[in-house]
Amino acid sequence: MDIAATLRQLGVALADYTGADLTVRSPIDGSQLASLRCHTRAEVQASIAQAAEAFTAWRDVPAPQRGALVRLFGEALRGLKEPLARLVTMECGKILEEARGEVQEMIDMCDFAVGLSRQLYGLTIASERPEHSMQETWLPLGPMGVLTAFNFPVAVWSWNAALALVCGDPVVWKPSEKTPLAALACEAIFARACARYTQTTGHTLPEGLLHVLRGGAGVGDWVVSDTRLPLISATGSCRMGRLIAPKVAARLGRSLLELGGNNAVVVSDQADLGVALPAILFGAVGTCGQRCTTIRRVIAHARIYDELLARLKTAYQRIATQYIGNPLDAGTLVGPLIDQVAFAAMQKALDTARQQGGSVFCGERVCAALYPQAYYVTPALVQVPTQVEIVHAETFAPILYVMPYTSLDEAIAIHNAVPQGLSSAIFTTDLREAGQFKRRSDCGMVNVNIGTSGAEIGGAFGGEKDTGGGREAGSDAWKTYMRRHTSTTYYGTTAPALAQGIKFEVA
Ligand code: NAD
Repeated sequence: MDIAATLRQLGVALADYTGADLTVRSPIDGSQLASLRCHTRAEVQASIAQAAEAFTAWRDVPAPQRGALVRLFGEALRGLKEPLARLVTMECGKILEEARGEVQEMIDMCDFAVGLSRQLYGLTIASERPEHSMQETWLPLGPMGVLTAFNFPVAVWSWNAALALVCGDPVVWKPSEKTPLAALACEAIFARACARYTQTTGHTLPEGLLHVLRGGAGVGDWVVSDTRLPLISATGSCRMGRLIAPKVAARLGRSLLELGGNNAVVVSDQADLGVALPAILFGAVGTCGQRCTTIRRVIAHARIYDELLARLKTAYQRIATQYIGNPLDAGTLVGPLIDQVAFAAMQKALDTARQQGGSVFCGERVCAALYPQAYYVTPALVQVPTQVEIVHAETFAPILYVMPYTSLDEAIAIHNAVPQGLSSAIFTTDLREAGQFKRRSDCGMVNVNIGTSGAEIGGAFGGEKDTGGGREAGSDAWKTYMRRHTSTTYYGTTAPALAQGIKFEVA
């Protein structure tokens, strides 16, 4: 694991950021990757001031030209996909294959945003008055704040940044304090793209279109509270969302919340288990259970419950013995948990599940002799008779609760009974069941015969209830990053008519 060479390849001059405030450790072996200086309050304020200044110039650059910068950023990412993926793996512990997928998602997001930069379309609306025309136009909103979680250290930022930049908004980014190096790499790659933009177009860019802030929740709080940032996009736990949303609301700012999930799949007695099983495995144990869209609950029809459970146990046993290890190694499917706190939370949840009548299969620490400072676990399967209390909470670790149902109504009731509402799925070959489930799932995303994780960027990503209601990435998510004008123009020559037929005539 050569962190220095990887950072060099990505253009990160680590010495510029070195200090004693923040120790960055690799979850792979607990080793120190870097020790960083955090931003002070004065520096955060200066960054936001510069982003606000940059906005006044950037908003006037035609959107397709803004898109040209995002295109160059996407090209730079293509060239550095492998080292950036390695850095993501070293810093957050996801397997290299998934880290490559994460960088690919950034590239896809840039492509999407470039196309969008020529389509930030509004509406022409029929006016009720003669010789009037009405239009709806979308305009840049302002500099925006982005807070991100450790488990998608770069892709989630790019969902925001690629859209924000084409929409005309500079970005102030406070990444997770657990994964600041991947953010510094993005900053360096973005700086390269900016230099190429100037070389190829001859236009200079405003200084400070992107700021990466180093620090924890305190630095995040300075971002959240700053009235110069009309939009705060925050990805993380529901706990974090509950803390920041009132602060943004109190200053009448806009927040885009992407919070925790507690995603379930319903497996019908009409399901093709050959389709369901691999999808459940990727969704439940992939990323070591540390995706917001991880499958945390299987609600299985009583008629196929025993068979599904037996097949899951066989697969979990195989994963436990063959596929857990260093996420940089080809062949590893499950890497480590992010840290000791995550491990303790997992063990606590398993103890609670036992107390609440659950029967736990696997879930113990492994590889401790090889990596005493890291936390590898065998993914846990927990049979619960009903949806007991612990199942309602998101434990950010590979725990899959399995419970039976007998009617679709009951399955949907169990499905919707948790506070979170991110992603959901049903496995069935019955069209009617699929249609009912799609209509009645209370989540932001609902799938048929695929799992809950691994969304494509073309759709709007996000969830309801405690997940926060935000939507990012594809579809019309870009509208959140802009402000809407409704404008009416009168092109007649007599006194303009008033709406609603009101007469107001001065003789
Ligand atoms: P976290 O809530 O601990 O931290 C997320 C970010 O918020 C970090 O940058 C952190 O520094 C910052 N933060 C925390 N408290 C803050 C405060 N009071 N004020 C300002 N900033 C604050 O989350 P995490 O442990 O990094 O990530 C895991 C969580 O994120 C899980 O709950 C997961 O489901 C969720 N998540 C959601 C999505 C989504 O799109 N819905 C995507 C990824 C992760």
